[in-house]
Amino acid sequence: MSDTYFILIGLVLGLLTFLLYMLVPLRAKRRKEEEDRIRGYCPLCGHALRKGERIRSNQLEIGKSDLRTYIKGCPFCLGGKGSRKCPVCKKKVGKEDMIVAFSNPEEDKRKLRVMGCKNCFSQGFD
Ligand SMILES: [Zn+2]
Ligand SMILES: [Zn+2]
Repeated sequence: MSDTYFILIGLVLGLLTFLLYMLVPLRAKRRKEEEDRIRGYCPLCGHALRKGERIRSNQLEIGKSDLRTYIKGCPFCLGGKGSRKCPVCKKKVGKEDMIVAFSNPEEDKRKLRVMGCKNCFSQGFD
């Protein structure tokens, strides 16, 4: 066995250790990015919502294919931060006020159609 062979093994081992060191923080970083990923935006204040930040809402089933969702807001704007605006008429929405969104559970429950606030869509608040 020649010396060059040992040197080669040493180099390969060194390289592997180096690669492992590089991979571990990268994987940890990716996991963190996954947690930081934006899952949606508050329709009232536009705040980006991440894991654990949920929009507060009430759901009201009118019929089989008519689901009304009353959106109160996210922890950000309910906590007094950010300005709450109706995405339809752009008017200010008070902290106690909500906006209403329609959806069809038979089609897609998650697909919400924002109809407006008490001001511009009063028929949704009967
Ligand atoms: Zn909000
Ligand atoms: Zn409105």
